[in-house]
Amino acid sequence: MRLSPATPCRILILGGTSEAMELAAHLSGNREFGVISSLAGRTAQPRLPAGEVRIGSFGGVQGLIDFLSANAIDLVVDASHPFAARISSNAAKACQLSNVTLLVLERPQWSPVAGDRWYEVQDMGSAASLSAELGRRLFLTVGRQDLAQFAAFPRVWFLIRSIEMPDPPLPLQHEILLRRGPFDPREEMTLLQEHRIDVLVSKNSGGSATYSKIVAARELGIPVVLVKRPLQPVACCVSSTSDVLAWISNFKSTR
Ligand code: NAP
Repeated sequence: MRLSPATPCRILILGGTSEAMELAAHLSGNREFGVISSLAGRTAQPRLPAGEVRIGSFGGVQGLIDFLSANAIDLVVDASHPFAARISSNAAKACQLSNVTLLVLERPQWSPVAGDRWYEVQDMGSAASLSAELGRRLFLTVGRQDLAQFAAFPRVWFLIRSIEMPDPPLPLQHEILLRRGPFDPREEMTLLQEHRIDVLVSKNSGGSATYSKIVAARELGIPVVLVKRPLQPVACCVSSTSDVLAWISNFKSTR
């Protein structure tokens, strides 16, 4: 059915990223759209997107299907983090089963440049064993939920940076830094030097907000153990917020 141009296009943004915040800021004041942003509720004091926000799990694929139907959603924009694989998989299944259009915003990965000393690994377990072989003073910037694998290395010292207190089990020897990006390259270099870091461990998150640590490691010749992204479901995909906005404008005009 072709809807009247006056009917708002109902959009669900799967968030938890700066791109999702940008999209909500652009779309929420526009009467052509009815936007709901969704956060998982992992952080106690999240930065809230503009406009309507819901917080908490949907309850798996069926829960998301029910939500799409109850809120008459026309389009889901999956702007979740590249390592949030479960919600992306759920979104792909729920959209297919509900016949709702899905657009994935996948920010480009970081790629090595001259001077980078990267060791790319498939998962966090491999990152833990390789980094413990390579160094004795590790800077862990992988979030707070993936630290258990590093607890198996009692002789290694860890500087753990996360937005909120990390979940146990934690490595025996560690210091915790509670910080939220974006970070400055000069300050990242100072941090690495002050703590005599000899290996950086990171996910290949992409984006600019946390790239400074990669620059700092390059400048100081420090190796980086980089966890590759999980596979994403096949879906219509763009790589920037401006691409999403252009795509949505076209979607609205052709409905
Ligand atoms: P995940 O493993 O893909 O998802 C686990 C479960 O959490 C999902 O099955 C879903 O529960 C719920 N969930 C995840 N994202 C949600 C959202 N935006 N709205 C409602 N429910 C959501 O996700 P994760 O890696 O734990 O990440 C959680 C959130 O943090 C995401 O929004 C992501 O964008 C953000 N984030 C993640 C990372 C990272 O490195 N993983 C980094 C920065 C930000 P149900 O199945 O019950 O619906």
